[in-house]
Amino acid sequence: MTATVTEYVCQDCGTLLRHSNPNTLESMRDVHNQLCVVKRQKTMAQQVAVPKPATPAAAAPAPAATASPPPAIPATPSTPAAGGPTTISLSGTGTSYDKVDGPIDPKFKEKRQPVGTYQGIKVWGPYDAPGQLGIWGENVCVDFDICVADGACIEACPVNVYEWLQTPGHPASEKKAFMIREKDCIFCMACENVCPPQAIKIFKKG
Ligand code: SF4
Repeated sequence: MTATVTEYVCQDCGTLLRHSNPNTLESMRDVHNQLCVVKRQKTMAQQVAVPKPATPAAAAPAPAATASPPPAIPATPSTPAAGGPTTISLSGTGTSYDKVDGPIDPKFKEKRQPVGTYQGIKVWGPYDAPGQLGIWGENVCVDFDICVADGACIEACPVNVYEWLQTPGHPASEKKAFMIREKDCIFCMACENVCPPQAIKIFKKG
């Protein structure tokens, strides 16, 4: 007596499975379906193709029959600052200043007044852009009138606190080491130690 041979053909890759025992064939089919590369690729392609749920902004338009005006959209700043508000301008008429020699005055906070912020970073006067830019920062402080854009601080910082800020018209250098990620400072003092004109003063948080 000849055993009955049962078959299963994978609809994805075309593989033919045959066995006389239906239970065994079913197990073979399950194993194949778990391992079938073509089936897996098709599943992944379908998942990628599934459209994301519409966001409120992309939702269907309101019915045309509505007579009421659309709700007002709250005003937002045209170019939101990366780190916070900006209240000072880097442009101006203050060009009649000479380069200032270092080091930065470690007691400047007792002698100077904050004049504003730039992307959330405090700026201490006197300030008369673009020739006189004062001292920037609360904990990571750079005297922009001393900074000569050497860049050693940017390279030394292990947590990427600084980035360049263009300051055209300044007598010492036309870009400065801007402590935009001041909050990330780990107070390693590397930048303060490598700055050639000693324009940097680090104040550890109390
Ligand atoms: S003290 Fe260290 S972590 Fe802080 S800004 Fe200077 S180099 Fe970066």
